[in-house]
Amino acid sequence: MFRTQAVVSMENRESILAAMLDHLEEHLTVERTDAGAHIASPFGTVDIMRSDDDVLVDVASDSTEVLGMMRIFVAEHIFEFAGESASVVWSGDGVDTMLPPHFQKLTVASVSDVTPRMRRVILSCENVAACASDSRYHIRLLLPPAGRAPRWPTISTDGRIRWPTDDDALVTRIYTIRSIDTDAGRIAVDFVLHDHAGPASAWAASVQPGTVIGMLGPGGSAVPPAGRYLLAGDETALPAISRLLEALPAQARGLALIEVADAAEEQKIDNRTAIEVRWLHRKGAAPGTTTLLQHAIMAQPEPGRDDDLFVWASCEFSAFKAIRAPVRKRWGLAKEKHLVTSYWRLGMANEDAEVLEPDDA
Ligand SMILES: Cc1cc2nc3c(=O)[nH]c(=O)nc-3n(C[C@H](O)[C@H](O)[C@H](O)COP(=O)(O)OP(=O)(O)OC[C@H]3O[C@@H](n4cnc5c(N)ncnc54)[C@H](O)[C@@H]3O)c2cc1C
Repeated sequence: MFRTQAVVSMENRESILAAMLDHLEEHLTVERTDAGAHIASPFGTVDIMRSDDDVLVDVASDSTEVLGMMRIFVAEHIFEFAGESASVVWSGDGVDTMLPPHFQKLTVASVSDVTPRMRRVILSCENVAACASDSRYHIRLLLPPAGRAPRWPTISTDGRIRWPTDDDALVTRIYTIRSIDTDAGRIAVDFVLHDHAGPASAWAASVQPGTVIGMLGPGGSAVPPAGRYLLAGDETALPAISRLLEALPAQARGLALIEVADAAEEQKIDNRTAIEVRWLHRKGAAPGTTTLLQHAIMAQPEPGRDDDLFVWASCEFSAFKAIRAPVRKRWGLAKEKHLVTSYWRLGMANEDAEVLEPDDA
C-alpha cells in the first residue's frame, strides 16, 4: 500500500467539508464518521479527519500512479470548494513527482476516415501498456498550440496540476481509446468531425503524421456484470459502446441504441455479445437537438424488481439530463445500476469536462 497525507487549512471548515462531501457522495460511497469521512473506491481510500483547526487527509492506494491521481483529485476538490485561500501541504509517497501520473506523449502515426464524419487517428504511445485497460477507456488529450514546442503540465506542491499558460496553453479534450494495438505500441482514437469548429475536431480534420500531443489517462470505471444491458449514446459515445460490445461476455444480452446523423454514419461493430444494436438516425436534425435517445430508452419495458438491468448512456448534456432523471426516478435504478453521463454540451466548449476523476465513466 502507498500512502500520502495532506494537512489542509481553510476558512469555514464545516460548511466547506459538508458541501464537498455532499458532492463526492454523488459519485462515491462516502461513510461519514465523527471525525470526518471515509471514502472507499476501487482505486483506494480517502480518510478525511478534523484535527484542531485543520483537516487531515490520508490517501491510500496499491499503485503509485493511482495514488498520484487520487492526490490530484483530492487537491482539486479542496480548492474547488475552499477557494484559493486554502493551504494544502502534502507528504508521503510520490510527493516529489513532477510529471502528472498517467501522462505520456503520443505521436500521430496515420489518419483515416471511418465514415464521412468520423476520423480515426492512430497514435504511437510512449507507454502503450498504460492504455490497455479493460475498464478505463477515456483519455484527456493535450493539444499544444500549433507551431510552438509543447510545454507539458507539471504537479505543484499543493497537489494540483499546473498547466502551461498564455502562448503555451494546451487545449484539453476528453476522448475514448477506440482500440489498442499493443504489439505496434499504438492506440486509435475516433474523432467526430462536427460543424462547430471546436479545436479538437478541427485538429483531427487537419492533423498530419508526426504531430506530437500529450495524453493523461486512461480513466473510467468498469461496467459491472448484469442480466441485461441497455447501452445508449450518440456518435461521441460510439467508440465506447463499440468497445463494450467487443468486451462484454458473449452471453451478455440487451439493447444498444446509437444515434447518428444518417445511415452513412453507421459503423460495422465487432459485436461479440447477444446485445442487439439499433441505429437511430437524426434525419437532418442537428446533433444535440433531438429526443431520439430518451424516447427510445423510455419506450423500453420498465425494469421489474428482479430484472438485473444495467443502463450505460453517454450523449449531449440535454439528452443526458432527460435520460438520467427517469432512469433514476421512474425506473428507480440504484447508483450501481446505471452510468449515465454527458459527453458534450451544445454551444459550450468541453474544456471543463472532469471525466478522469477516479469515479468517472
Ligand atoms: C468521457 C468522454 C469520452 C468522449 N469520447 C469521445 C470520442 O471518442 N470521440 C468524440 O468525437 N468525442 C468524444 N467525446 C466528446 C468530445 O470530448 C466533445 O465532443 C468535445 O466537445 C469536442 O471538442 P471540440 O474541441 O471539437 O469542441 P468544443 O470546443 O468542446 O466545442 C465547440 C462547439 O462544438 C460543439 N460540439 C462539441 N462536440 C460536438 C459534437 N460531437 N457534435 C456537434 N457539436 C459539437 C459544442 O457544443 C460547442 O458549441 C467524449 C467526451 C467525454 C466526456
